[in-house]
Amino acid sequence: MSIPRDLVVDADAGAGAGRGSGSGAGRYAPSPSGDLHLGNLRTAMLAWLFARSSERRFLMRIEDLDRDRNAGAAAGQLADLVALGVEWDGEPVLQSGRRAAHEAAIARLAEAGLVYECTCTRREILEAPRAPHAPPGAYPGTCRDLSDAERAAARERIAPRAPALRLRVPEGVVPPDFEDLILGGVTGGVDDLVLQRGDGAIAYNLAVVVDDADMGVDQVVRGDDLASSTPRQILLQRLLGLPSPPEIAYAHVPLVLGPEGSRLAKRDGAVTVEDLAAQGIGPDRIRSVLAASLGLAEPGEPIGMAELLERFEPEALPRQAWTWSPEALRLEAP
Ligand code: GLU
Repeated sequence: MSIPRDLVVDADAGAGAGRGSGSGAGRYAPSPSGDLHLGNLRTAMLAWLFARSSERRFLMRIEDLDRDRNAGAAAGQLADLVALGVEWDGEPVLQSGRRAAHEAAIARLAEAGLVYECTCTRREILEAPRAPHAPPGAYPGTCRDLSDAERAAARERIAPRAPALRLRVPEGVVPPDFEDLILGGVTGGVDDLVLQRGDGAIAYNLAVVVDDADMGVDQVVRGDDLASSTPRQILLQRLLGLPSPPEIAYAHVPLVLGPEGSRLAKRDGAVTVEDLAAQGIGPDRIRSVLAASLGLAEPGEPIGMAELLERFEPEALPRQAWTWSPEALRLEAP
């Protein structure tokens, strides 16, 4: 199934909508890997509330860079967001349509000597010795300083696989820290992150930074599992000469956990709009339960997005994850 015409996305449409009006924008950027679950829906509601309460536009971007992307899933996700009352301005932007901009950014970094080829497999990276204070999972630098001859030999060794492209983090870079609207001060390590994978796919960190800048996004609201990626993204913003904090505001919001205490997942039960509809639980009830979980409504109180917006105060948001259970939706039924 392809994305319906009216939901598509001309790469420039969103970008155009992001410029020119003089005010900033927030966004929601789902990966179309399947139906959105309650955790995703809650983050989307929060992104909308943060944007609208600060008089920003609210933009939508489908992060469909992975090979397993699924155009049908994107259409379903957008329909669920509309049903919940989370509506965006302009056309959604399809990240896969922005390849030229991503490649141009990598070319700019390469011209500055900040890109190198990497032929390491995941296993080689895991097994390589690394510096004692390197951030967990950091790239150990194996391919960073190869000679031309060594590089050519490495390329030959992995053929027909192609090398990935990595960022050469300049010597002496101070890892960027930032002030998060929810988490407070965040610091994190940076390493020679992947910009383009060996299979040609553009890496998440590069695409997010380039797309947010082109769309005029100056407020990023997303799950707090992504907070550790943010220092890497800020470093890329700086190296590319794009706006970065404090011009860009970040709010990494608490996740929804499943009954076992780990991040909510489809295997936890009926957690999507479709599953819940099959149990007679419609979008209005889902909105009401999510609002109650955010302290914005009484349990069981019906509430619309406009009213939520009136009540929304970022400082009063719960700082803890919310644990969902199948009973939560029924107990809080009006
Ligand atoms: N596409 C990412 C996700 O669905 C979110 C990326 C972002 O908001 O920066 O988890």
